Amino acid sequence: MTPEQKVLIGGKWREAATAERMEVINPANGKPFASVPKCGPKDVDRAVAAALEAQPAWAGRPMSDRSKILLKLSQLVRDHLEELAKLETLEQGSPIRKTMGMDIPQCAEHFEYFAGIARGMTGETLPVGPWCASMTVREPLGVVGLITPWNFPALMVVWKMAAAIVTGNTCVVKPPSIAPLTSLRIGELALEAGVPPGVVNVITGPGSTAGEAMVRHQDIAKIGFTGDSATGKRIMSLASDTVKPVGLELGGKNPFVVLADADIDSAVEGAVWGAFFNSGQVCAAASRFYIHESLYDEFAKKFVSAARTLRVGDPMKAETVMGPLAYKEHRDKVEAYIDEAKKSRAKLLLGGERPTTSETKDGYFVAPTVFGDCSNDMAFMQDEMFGPVVGLVRFKTTDEAIALANDTRYGLSGSVWTKDVRTGLSMAGRIKAGTVWVNEHLCISCETPWGGCKESGWGKDASTMALEEYTMTKHIYVDLMGGPDRPWYGMLK
Ligand code: NDP
Repeated sequence: MTPEQKVLIGGKWREAATAERMEVINPANGKPFASVPKCGPKDVDRAVAAALEAQPAWAGRPMSDRSKILLKLSQLVRDHLEELAKLETLEQGSPIRKTMGMDIPQCAEHFEYFAGIARGMTGETLPVGPWCASMTVREPLGVVGLITPWNFPALMVVWKMAAAIVTGNTCVVKPPSIAPLTSLRIGELALEAGVPPGVVNVITGPGSTAGEAMVRHQDIAKIGFTGDSATGKRIMSLASDTVKPVGLELGGKNPFVVLADADIDSAVEGAVWGAFFNSGQVCAAASRFYIHESLYDEFAKKFVSAARTLRVGDPMKAETVMGPLAYKEHRDKVEAYIDEAKKSRAKLLLGGERPTTSETKDGYFVAPTVFGDCSNDMAFMQDEMFGPVVGLVRFKTTDEAIALANDTRYGLSGSVWTKDVRTGLSMAGRIKAGTVWVNEHLCISCETPWGGCKESGWGKDASTMALEEYTMTKHIYVDLMGGPDRPWYGMLK
């Protein structure tokens, strides 16, 4: 990749309509290292035109062709594992052990998975008749707009792109402005894999201009969006002008409930993982902890001592497990919540400051932070902070734990920790969220549907359900009687 990137439209690298550019900054040291075009509505028009032109021929290819191209793309992603992982670590700050070990391999897995399941996509025959054959078929939507966030820059694009293109759609991707480079590179690899020009277009530009132009665009049939709930609400209202469907994977404020009979060591391990993976910049991160009063003190002590050992530092070092936050304004926002929590009744048990090693002094780092004695009326227990900061709350009864867990405007995910699987299952049924884990937190794979309820949005990424998100059901009716007479024509005679 060159430091001065262009955008991918119709299979060619192009400049934006204006010469304006946006810098890409390495959050580990605050230094710009690349720039991308600042595209606007004119560039969106060009990208949509290219996607529209490419769509009929792409949809006309046999599913087996599209599937084989996705398999090739999956292999190319694997072949470029190190390059893609380094790029993502540079632009977003995720530790290299995570981008190499998880994010990029997961991208390859998703292409492979969708290449496979799409070939099993079927319609139905319907019991109408015997005077007709009545059936449903699934058809691509046309051109889809994919708008993605910065917390998993590569995987969030692949989640949507794989399901969209294998089903015969073409797409315009708008990656996050602060971390656009992996998406551009994946677009380039798609071409190399044999995806025809115009099927995958990647443009860079601000959400407020390029993103909104996509949402308003008459020729974009659907928006697949992952991002903040406030942005999702704005997109929903803009999409109403063209009655455009939108898939909304939005924010979360996810409960982690530890019952009196939980295996405490396992819960502590799960808590560290759920809270601090990707520096807490995960829509499904555990951020509200409800601990039975009989275990609270022991859990808090063990959790804090485990979190204290996490190595925060240069994300390019293999031994680092927590990198910086992704950009300066985001770090400032998280710190403002920490300051507010420090002024509340909550008790700071760990962190609450910037780490000050030579590796962290210039980047946007925040230490793992734990507050005890919290309650749901504290703003930082209600707002999605998207950082390595959590609050612990005591509860007495299971009903109280459920009420606390559900006391949120979000409904993305949650977890319950108990040795009694029946209690776990019944609690899972009572937590209002798209995913509930029992004795696990943050376990997401291509086979399992992902998406929330309430202000966490609607629609599903991943799993066979994602194929439905990017296809429409058409009903086809074929007369089998022949001739001009139908019994019901008589009503007009
Ligand atoms: P944002 O909503 O700020 O941005 C997401 C994308 O939307 C970016 O590409 C952004 O562009 C674009 N955008 C911003 N404003 C508009 C607009 N008015 N119209 C169209 N597009 C727009 O989210 P973040 O990037 O900050 O991502 C973090 C959020 O994503 C968190 O809330 C997190 O919970 C959520 N998320 C949800 C997931 C889920 O599956 N439910 C998974 C991962 C993250 P630009 O970058 O130029 O601003």
